[in-house]
Amino acid sequence: MATDGSDPIPPHKTFDTILVLDFGSQYSHLITRRLRELNVYCEMLPCTQKLAELEWTPKGVILSGGPYSVYSDDAPHVDPAIFELGVPMLGICYGLQEIAWHFGKNVLAGEKREYGHAYLKVDRHGDGEAGGHVDKLFAGLEDDMEVWMSHADKLSHLPDGFITVATTSNAPFAGMAHKTKKLYGIQFHPEVTHTPKGIVLLKNFAVDICQAKTDWTMGKFVDQEIARIRALVGEKGQVIGAVSGGVDSTVAAKLMQEAIGERFHAVLVDNGVLRLNEAKQVKETLTAGLGINLTVVDASERFLSRLKGITDDPEKKRKVIGNTFIEVFQETAKKIAREATSDRAGEIEWLLQGTLYPDVIESISFKGPSATIKTHHNVGGLPKDMNLKLIEPLRELFKDEVRELGTNLGIPEDLVWRHPFPGPGIAIRILGEVTPEQVRIAREADYIFIEEIKAAGLYRKVSQAFAALLPVKAVGVMGDNRVHAQVIALRAVETSDFMTADWYPFDGAFLKKVSRRIVNEVDGVCRVVYDITSKPPGTIEME
Ligand code: GLN
Repeated sequence: MATDGSDPIPPHKTFDTILVLDFGSQYSHLITRRLRELNVYCEMLPCTQKLAELEWTPKGVILSGGPYSVYSDDAPHVDPAIFELGVPMLGICYGLQEIAWHFGKNVLAGEKREYGHAYLKVDRHGDGEAGGHVDKLFAGLEDDMEVWMSHADKLSHLPDGFITVATTSNAPFAGMAHKTKKLYGIQFHPEVTHTPKGIVLLKNFAVDICQAKTDWTMGKFVDQEIARIRALVGEKGQVIGAVSGGVDSTVAAKLMQEAIGERFHAVLVDNGVLRLNEAKQVKETLTAGLGINLTVVDASERFLSRLKGITDDPEKKRKVIGNTFIEVFQETAKKIAREATSDRAGEIEWLLQGTLYPDVIESISFKGPSATIKTHHNVGGLPKDMNLKLIEPLRELFKDEVRELGTNLGIPEDLVWRHPFPGPGIAIRILGEVTPEQVRIAREADYIFIEEIKAAGLYRKVSQAFAALLPVKAVGVMGDNRVHAQVIALRAVETSDFMTADWYPFDGAFLKKVSRRIVNEVDGVCRVVYDITSKPPGTIEME
């Protein structure tokens, strides 16, 4: 949680934890995801993790896949001490090859790359033989199963002490197990959905073989996290943090409020380019609804006056908004600190950040010997010179876990499922100069679009939607008069990860209704268009 190493009660001390050692596979984080879905807590570390530096003992270890070949000179290897740890181990793909290499140096380049679906035959050994544990990995699974392969290297023969537990037509050692130790290797990827029953195998490993408790639930996480925050900040410690009305910052803020009440100071900066009525609504939800100690700073005039005249470069808008945000936040923090110190006798020492696990994974995941490991960047872009220690209560969670936690903490459904909203707000949805009048038009059109999406029951099907204002005028006829007014572009996308996205296929009647309402109700607009560009090549936002 804290990035200064002073975490008093880390989850791996409370929950049985499976350690995933990452060799850089694109699927590594999915192993973590799948185990969490089984309510088993799991943490990922780079494959080069030294066992002596690990302050906790995992219930089991999973070695991920990876792009290297174990026999090449620069291939990464685990700390050999991991093999002496005495807990069960499962190697997946490169992980299998790493185990084989450790015990027998018996991996070589295959003649044929194997990529895609394969049919696996499970080879059972019956209970008595080999102490019964070898069959456990495939317990409850059919003898024939569909799996996903993605490898080129192969084992030349089994290392000493191992037996085959599964084969495919191309891979005679698609699954192996040690005869006496709980060491397993599989060539296929159980963590991807293309291996339909992969989750059963992961469960067999984590729950039956490692005996990890399945107690990673959001209810327990809340209790553990509150205790952890309290222990971390102490009896007088005070924390400040920016909130935006988005799910991450709201959930983090609510958790702080539950843990330390008024000693958490939330700040909402109204930058003048939030959505229609947003500052007011967020204030209501966070204060009256959730009891969070919130200061709203209306700095809209400062932001809008600085945005004046920026017509060419969207990056300039982002910079102006980012810098002004930092300025306003720092001023507010100083003010709050003065007041807080006088009546509560504790300094503000901590800054709350809504960092999520994918950011953490991104910064620790193994990128290979030459790649520099990215240092963790500040999510809100707040400056280091504020001299505050970071507190990151969501840093162990994936996005969907944050949503579940939000629901658990009583945060209203529409906030929990809210579409992402960029920091520079609708300023980057107004192409060209941002003026109060342009803000009004963009806001009103956006409000209607989102209202109709919700009314049609599509809000959760669409991943992100908004109305953008184009900097051009078109001719129209309204009430028999020729008008020359602006054009609204609607954008709505579906995506699972926001890296790629496709435009949402609304039906014609829906678009017709939205278009009619916007032209009728928003002064200054005479045309509405729908953006049918996917990402790539388009981005989700317009600027
Ligand atoms: N590089 C190894 C191979 O080609 C491992 C691949 C993997 O882990 N997906 O066999």
